[in-house]
Amino acid sequence: MALTCSLTFDFDATSLWIGSYKSRNPSMISRGEFGAVAMPRILDLLKKHQISGTFYIPGHTALAYPDIVKRVAAEGHEIGHHGWVHENPADFDEAGERFNIEKGLECLHKAAGIVPKGYRSPAWAFSERTTKILIDYGFLYDSSMMGDDFTPYYVRTGDVFDRVSPYSFGPNVDLVELPVTWALDDFPHFEFVDGDTYGLSAPSKVEEIWTDEFTYARQTAKGGLFSLTMHPQVIGRGHRMMMLDRLITKYKNHKDVTFSTMLDYATGWRSANPLDVWKTSGAPQAQNACGRGKI
Ligand SMILES: [Zn+2]
Repeated sequence: MALTCSLTFDFDATSLWIGSYKSRNPSMISRGEFGAVAMPRILDLLKKHQISGTFYIPGHTALAYPDIVKRVAAEGHEIGHHGWVHENPADFDEAGERFNIEKGLECLHKAAGIVPKGYRSPAWAFSERTTKILIDYGFLYDSSMMGDDFTPYYVRTGDVFDRVSPYSFGPNVDLVELPVTWALDDFPHFEFVDGDTYGLSAPSKVEEIWTDEFTYARQTAKGGLFSLTMHPQVIGRGHRMMMLDRLITKYKNHKDVTFSTMLDYATGWRSANPLDVWKTSGAPQAQNACGRGKI
Protein backbone atom coordinates (compact mmCIF):
# COMPACT_ATOMS: atom_id res chain seq x y z
CA MET A 1 0.00 0.00 0.00
CA ALA A 2 1.20 3.39 -0.89
CA LEU A 3 1.93 6.28 1.37
CA THR A 4 -0.19 9.31 0.52
CA CYS A 5 1.38 12.74 0.64
CA SER A 6 -0.76 15.86 1.07
CA LEU A 7 0.58 19.36 0.69
CA THR A 8 -1.58 21.74 2.71
CA PHE A 9 -1.45 25.52 2.84
CA ASP A 10 -3.21 27.70 5.39
CA PHE A 11 -3.89 30.91 3.49
CA ASP A 12 -4.37 33.03 6.61
CA ALA A 13 -3.32 36.38 5.10
CA THR A 14 -4.01 39.24 7.52
CA SER A 15 -6.54 37.26 9.59
CA LEU A 16 -3.75 35.49 11.48
CA TRP A 17 -2.43 38.76 12.88
CA ILE A 18 -5.85 40.28 13.49
CA GLY A 19 -7.43 37.13 14.95
CA SER A 20 -4.80 34.99 16.67
CA TYR A 21 -2.38 37.78 17.54
CA LYS A 22 -5.07 40.44 18.10
CA SER A 23 -2.74 43.02 16.55
CA ARG A 24 -3.62 46.64 15.76
CA ASN A 25 -0.17 47.21 14.26
CA PRO A 26 -0.42 47.84 10.48
CA SER A 27 3.18 46.70 9.96
CA MET A 28 2.59 43.39 11.69
CA ILE A 29 -0.69 42.92 9.82
CA SER A 30 1.06 43.63 6.49
CA ARG A 31 3.02 40.42 6.96
CA GLY A 32 -0.20 38.68 6.02
CA GLU A 33 -0.44 40.60 2.76
CA PHE A 34 2.69 38.79 1.63
CA GLY A 35 0.58 35.63 1.66
CA ALA A 36 -1.33 37.03 -1.32
CA VAL A 37 1.99 37.72 -3.08
CA ALA A 38 3.14 34.16 -2.43
CA MET A 39 -0.05 32.37 -3.47
CA PRO A 40 0.61 32.56 -7.23
CA ARG A 41 4.13 31.17 -6.64
CA ILE A 42 2.69 28.22 -4.75
CA LEU A 43 -0.03 27.58 -7.31
CA ASP A 44 2.58 27.70 -10.08
CA LEU A 45 4.79 25.23 -8.19
CA LEU A 46 1.88 22.81 -7.74
CA LYS A 47 1.05 23.17 -11.43
CA LYS A 48 4.66 22.44 -12.36
CA HIS A 49 4.56 19.23 -10.33
CA GLN A 50 0.96 18.41 -11.35
CA ILE A 51 -0.15 18.07 -7.74
CA SER A 52 -3.52 19.00 -6.24
CA GLY A 53 -3.08 20.64 -2.84
CA THR A 54 -5.40 21.58 -0.01
CA PHE A 55 -5.86 25.19 1.04
CA TYR A 56 -7.49 26.07 4.37
CA ILE A 57 -8.86 29.58 4.08
CA PRO A 58 -10.54 31.79 6.73
CA GLY A 59 -13.67 33.63 5.61
CA HIS A 60 -11.87 36.91 6.26
CA THR A 61 -9.21 35.99 3.68
CA ALA A 62 -11.81 34.85 1.17
CA LEU A 63 -13.45 38.28 1.31
CA ALA A 64 -10.10 40.09 1.05
CA TYR A 65 -8.71 38.04 -1.86
CA PRO A 66 -11.63 36.47 -3.75
CA ASP A 67 -9.76 36.28 -7.05
CA ILE A 68 -7.01 34.15 -5.50
CA VAL A 69 -9.59 31.87 -3.89
CA LYS A 70 -11.32 31.53 -7.27
CA ARG A 71 -8.00 30.56 -8.87
CA VAL A 72 -7.38 27.92 -6.18
CA ALA A 73 -10.78 26.39 -6.90
CA ALA A 74 -10.46 26.70 -10.68
CA GLU A 75 -7.15 24.81 -10.64
CA GLY A 76 -8.73 21.83 -8.92
CA HIS A 77 -7.33 22.22 -5.42
CA GLU A 78 -9.36 21.53 -2.32
CA ILE A 79 -10.48 24.43 -0.16
CA GLY A 80 -11.18 23.77 3.51
CA HIS A 81 -12.76 25.82 6.30
CA HIS A 82 -10.32 27.71 8.52
CA GLY A 83 -12.55 29.84 10.73
CA TRP A 84 -13.81 33.34 10.19
CA VAL A 85 -10.97 35.64 11.24
CA HIS A 86 -8.49 33.09 12.53
CA GLU A 87 -10.09 33.16 15.95
CA ASN A 88 -9.55 30.64 18.74
CA PRO A 89 -12.85 28.73 19.02
CA ALA A 90 -12.34 28.41 22.78
CA ASP A 91 -12.60 32.20 23.15
CA PHE A 92 -16.30 32.03 22.24
CA ASP A 93 -19.47 30.62 23.71
CA GLU A 94 -21.39 28.06 21.67
CA ALA A 95 -23.41 30.67 19.78
CA GLY A 96 -20.23 32.57 18.93
CA GLU A 97 -18.45 29.44 17.78
CA ARG A 98 -21.37 28.52 15.53
CA PHE A 99 -21.48 32.07 14.16
CA ASN A 100 -17.80 31.81 13.18
CA ILE A 101 -18.37 28.48 11.41
CA GLU A 102 -21.35 29.92 9.53
CA LYS A 103 -19.48 33.09 8.61
CA GLY A 104 -16.57 31.04 7.23
CA LEU A 105 -18.97 28.89 5.18
CA GLU A 106 -20.77 31.96 3.86
CA CYS A 107 -17.56 33.72 2.78
CA LEU A 108 -16.06 30.69 0.99
CA HIS A 109 -19.34 30.22 -0.84
CA LYS A 110 -19.48 33.90 -1.75
CA ALA A 111 -15.88 33.96 -3.00
CA ALA A 112 -15.83 30.78 -5.06
CA GLY A 113 -19.12 28.91 -4.69
CA ILE A 114 -17.52 26.34 -2.40
CA VAL A 115 -19.04 24.20 0.35
CA PRO A 116 -16.02 22.78 2.21
CA LYS A 117 -16.10 19.26 3.65
CA GLY A 118 -12.85 19.61 5.56
CA TYR A 119 -12.00 21.77 8.54
CA ARG A 120 -8.76 22.93 10.12
CA SER A 121 -9.13 25.12 13.18
CA PRO A 122 -7.17 28.37 13.36
CA ALA A 123 -3.87 27.67 15.14
CA TRP A 124 -5.17 24.10 15.67
CA ALA A 125 -7.17 25.29 18.70
CA PHE A 126 -10.42 23.60 19.74
CA SER A 127 -13.06 24.26 22.33
CA GLU A 128 -14.55 21.27 24.14
CA ARG A 129 -17.60 21.67 21.86
CA THR A 130 -15.81 21.89 18.50
CA THR A 131 -16.04 18.26 17.39
CA LYS A 132 -19.79 18.21 18.08
CA ILE A 133 -20.28 21.45 16.15
CA LEU A 134 -18.30 20.13 13.16
CA ILE A 135 -20.56 17.07 13.03
CA ASP A 136 -23.62 19.32 13.18
CA TYR A 137 -22.39 21.29 10.16
CA GLY A 138 -21.71 18.15 8.13
CA PHE A 139 -17.94 18.19 7.92
CA LEU A 140 -16.38 14.90 6.83
CA TYR A 141 -12.96 15.40 8.33
CA ASP A 142 -10.88 17.64 10.57
CA SER A 143 -7.15 18.25 10.48
CA SER A 144 -6.20 19.99 13.73
CA MET A 145 -5.42 17.33 16.31
CA MET A 146 -2.30 15.41 17.17
CA GLY A 147 -3.35 11.99 18.49
CA ASP A 148 -1.31 10.09 15.89
CA ASP A 149 1.25 10.90 13.23
CA PHE A 150 0.49 9.19 9.91
CA THR A 151 -2.65 7.20 10.76
CA PRO A 152 -6.12 8.77 10.70
CA TYR A 153 -8.68 8.10 13.40
CA TYR A 154 -12.21 9.06 14.41
CA VAL A 155 -12.50 11.91 16.90
CA ARG A 156 -14.55 11.74 20.09
CA THR A 157 -17.11 14.09 21.60
CA GLY A 158 -17.79 14.62 25.27
CA ASP A 159 -14.46 13.65 26.81
CA VAL A 160 -14.40 14.72 30.47
CA PHE A 161 -11.12 15.72 32.03
CA ASP A 162 -9.91 17.67 35.01
CA ARG A 163 -6.97 17.62 37.40
CA VAL A 164 -8.43 15.29 40.00
CA SER A 165 -10.33 12.54 38.17
CA PRO A 166 -9.36 9.80 35.72
CA TYR A 167 -9.70 10.82 32.08
CA SER A 168 -13.14 9.88 30.78
CA PHE A 169 -13.36 9.16 27.04
CA GLY A 170 -16.50 10.16 25.16
CA PRO A 171 -17.84 8.19 22.19
CA ASN A 172 -16.12 8.22 18.81
CA VAL A 173 -18.12 10.06 16.17
CA ASP A 174 -18.21 10.03 12.39
CA LEU A 175 -15.60 12.74 11.84
CA VAL A 176 -12.25 11.59 10.44
CA GLU A 177 -9.17 13.15 11.98
CA LEU A 178 -6.15 13.64 9.71
CA PRO A 179 -3.57 14.42 12.40
CA VAL A 180 -0.97 17.19 12.33
CA THR A 181 2.15 18.13 14.23
CA TRP A 182 4.11 21.32 14.78
CA ALA A 183 7.28 19.58 13.51
CA LEU A 184 5.69 19.35 10.05
CA ASP A 185 4.44 22.95 10.12
CA ASP A 186 6.52 25.71 8.57
CA PHE A 187 5.42 28.41 11.02
CA PRO A 188 7.43 27.55 14.16
CA HIS A 189 10.46 26.54 12.09
CA PHE A 190 10.64 29.72 10.08
CA GLU A 191 8.55 32.54 11.48
CA PHE A 192 9.75 35.26 13.82
CA VAL A 193 7.25 36.81 16.21
CA ASP A 194 8.91 38.69 19.03
CA GLY A 195 7.90 37.23 22.39
CA ASP A 196 6.22 34.25 20.75
CA THR A 197 8.30 32.24 18.29
CA TYR A 198 11.89 32.54 17.11
CA GLY A 199 12.16 30.39 14.00
CA LEU A 200 14.21 31.79 11.12
CA SER A 201 15.67 28.32 10.62
CA ALA A 202 17.94 27.45 7.74
CA PRO A 203 15.93 25.40 5.22
CA SER A 204 18.58 22.66 5.50
CA LYS A 205 17.43 21.90 9.04
CA VAL A 206 13.75 21.75 8.10
CA GLU A 207 14.56 19.76 4.98
CA GLU A 208 16.28 17.17 7.16
CA ILE A 209 13.31 16.88 9.52
CA TRP A 210 10.74 16.74 6.71
CA THR A 211 12.81 14.18 4.81
CA ASP A 212 13.29 11.85 7.76
CA GLU A 213 9.64 12.08 8.84
CA PHE A 214 8.66 11.21 5.27
CA THR A 215 11.10 8.28 5.15
CA TYR A 216 9.85 6.97 8.50
CA ALA A 217 6.25 7.27 7.29
CA ARG A 218 7.10 5.31 4.13
CA GLN A 219 8.72 2.59 6.19
CA THR A 220 6.17 2.28 8.98
CA ALA A 221 2.79 3.62 7.83
CA LYS A 222 1.74 1.78 4.68
CA GLY A 223 -1.54 3.26 3.56
CA GLY A 224 -0.96 6.22 5.85
CA LEU A 225 -0.93 9.95 5.26
CA PHE A 226 2.10 12.23 5.34
CA SER A 227 0.90 15.83 5.36
CA LEU A 228 2.81 19.08 5.52
CA THR A 229 1.24 22.24 6.89
CA MET A 230 2.50 25.40 5.25
CA HIS A 231 1.53 29.05 5.13
CA PRO A 232 1.95 31.07 1.92
CA GLN A 233 3.27 34.03 3.92
CA VAL A 234 5.96 31.76 5.43
CA ILE A 235 6.89 29.14 2.81
CA GLY A 236 6.55 31.73 0.03
CA ARG A 237 9.98 33.31 0.69
CA GLY A 238 12.56 32.42 -1.95
CA HIS A 239 14.88 30.16 0.05
CA ARG A 240 11.92 28.22 1.43
CA MET A 241 10.23 27.83 -1.95
CA MET A 242 13.46 26.32 -3.25
CA MET A 243 13.42 23.86 -0.34
CA LEU A 244 9.80 22.91 -1.04
CA ASP A 245 10.55 22.37 -4.73
CA ARG A 246 13.43 20.03 -3.80
CA LEU A 247 11.33 18.12 -1.29
CA ILE A 248 8.43 17.59 -3.70
CA THR A 249 10.90 16.33 -6.30
CA LYS A 250 12.34 13.88 -3.74
CA TYR A 251 8.93 12.69 -2.58
CA LYS A 252 7.79 12.16 -6.17
CA ASN A 253 10.77 9.92 -6.85
CA HIS A 254 9.21 7.07 -4.90
CA LYS A 255 6.88 4.75 -6.78
CA ASP A 256 5.02 3.84 -3.58
CA VAL A 257 4.05 7.47 -2.89
CA THR A 258 0.97 9.17 -4.27
CA PHE A 259 -0.22 12.75 -3.84
CA SER A 260 -3.77 13.63 -2.95
CA THR A 261 -5.95 16.30 -1.44
CA MET A 262 -6.87 15.80 2.19
CA LEU A 263 -10.53 15.33 1.27
CA ASP A 264 -9.83 12.59 -1.26
CA TYR A 265 -7.66 10.76 1.25
CA ALA A 266 -10.21 11.17 4.08
CA THR A 267 -13.03 9.95 1.85
CA GLY A 268 -11.09 6.83 0.86
CA TRP A 269 -9.98 6.10 4.42
CA ARG A 270 -13.53 6.49 5.75
CA SER A 271 -14.91 4.03 3.18
CA ALA A 272 -12.18 1.52 3.97
CA ASN A 273 -12.59 1.97 7.75
CA PRO A 274 -16.26 2.47 8.64
CA LEU A 275 -16.70 3.84 12.15
CA ASP A 276 -18.37 0.72 13.58
CA VAL A 277 -15.63 -1.55 12.29
CA TRP A 278 -12.82 0.83 13.22
CA LYS A 279 -14.10 1.06 16.83
CA THR A 280 -13.26 -2.60 17.29
CA SER A 281 -9.86 -2.34 15.61
CA GLY A 282 -7.94 -1.69 18.82
CA ALA A 283 -6.83 1.77 17.68
CA PRO A 284 -5.64 3.69 20.75
CA GLN A 285 -8.05 6.55 20.09
CA ALA A 286 -11.08 4.25 20.06
CA GLN A 287 -13.31 4.87 23.05
CA ASN A 288 -13.80 1.15 23.57
CA ALA A 289 -10.16 0.14 23.11
CA CYS A 290 -8.85 -2.26 25.71
CA GLY A 291 -8.52 -0.65 29.11
CA ARG A 292 -9.67 2.77 27.95
CA GLY A 293 -11.73 4.71 30.43
CA LYS A 294 -11.45 1.99 33.04
CA ILE A 295 -9.48 1.99 36.26
ZN1 LIG B 1 -4.07 29.41 10.03
